[in-house]
Amino acid sequence: KTYAAADFRYERLPYRRAGASGLDLPALSLGLWQKFGTDYPAQIQRDIVLHAFDLGITHFDNADRYGPPHRAAQQGFGDVLARDLAPYRDEIVLSTKAGNPIGPSPYLKGGSRKTLLNSLDHSLRDLGTDYVDVFYHHRPDPTVPIEETAGALLSAVQQGKALYVGVSNYGPEQAHEAAVLLRGAGVPLLVHQPRYSIFDRTPELNGLIDLAASDGFGLVVYSPLAQGLLTDKYLNEIPAGARAANSAFLKPEQIDDEYRKRASALNDLAAERGQSLAQLALQWVLRRPEVTSALIGASSTWQLDHNVAALGFPALTDDELAVIDEHGVD
Ligand code: NDP
Repeated sequence: KTYAAADFRYERLPYRRAGASGLDLPALSLGLWQKFGTDYPAQIQRDIVLHAFDLGITHFDNADRYGPPHRAAQQGFGDVLARDLAPYRDEIVLSTKAGNPIGPSPYLKGGSRKTLLNSLDHSLRDLGTDYVDVFYHHRPDPTVPIEETAGALLSAVQQGKALYVGVSNYGPEQAHEAAVLLRGAGVPLLVHQPRYSIFDRTPELNGLIDLAASDGFGLVVYSPLAQGLLTDKYLNEIPAGARAANSAFLKPEQIDDEYRKRASALNDLAAERGQSLAQLALQWVLRRPEVTSALIGASSTWQLDHNVAALGFPALTDDELAVIDEHGVD
């Protein structure tokens, strides 16, 4: 069946300006890290991507690494782009990343010009598009001069293969160095992608959030639901099919009594507000204006609908934030 995007798709979500740039991103973006490989039905993946677009989620986050196997998520997304979303390419922000290892070769990891630019070319082939909107270095590589890595990002833009550039998992010092170099070269760092949630406050503690404001880049924060731990799904059991039952990145051992105590208390607060824990957790990361977008995963269209509804609730009060601090911090 031919896809036609929902007419009212731009009335569902707020759009937020990325740092000092001119680009707006949806408050929620969809990432294709998990359940977008060959291990999950392509038809469900397609439904999720198209439903996201219908909800106003214009920003899709990918990486050469996502699958399994590596590169499968981009190939799958490329199929949906070709079949359904091609007429809407101008309305979509596609992000990809390189430099997180995808093989034993020295040219399939790290921060060299060779790794980054070869990966980008390969991603463009997999995605079936001439350019991505945002090209990221996936994680810092202290063995490579930052001038080389930043220079590769700059080249991607100069070659017309990316419109903007980003970094991910960089500490504040590395991010600042990259931001200064890129700004000097006329291609300011658009975004930084750190992990941030009620359970992981690193960007507040290490100064990255403040740096985002002073250096003028936006934050696209990943795992705002702590991979599902900040939902009610694990309060009683580990449901079959849930990430903690299947993934190398979320282990059943993490669902212990201490976790359940903290999550239950947060869940109670959410219930008092008439919302779910997932919705509260998303509002929490978005309370900071430096956070441009919360980057969520989804294994069903139901999760997308549920999570987008988070934006309809009143802002968290100071008292509620204090309760969240009490239970959210170790
Ligand atoms: P989340 O914290 O949003 O976790 C998403 C997962 O939680 C879903 O896949 C689903 O898993 C579960 N979930 C979502 N909504 C609900 C709900 N309402 N109720 C119950 N369960 C729910 O983010 P991710 O960890 O998936 O990361 C998001 C994206 O961030 C990635 O796809 C990737 O693009 C990016 N990322 C970037 C990294 C980097 O190094 N730059 C590292 C990690 C992620 P399930 O149903 O399978 O249990």
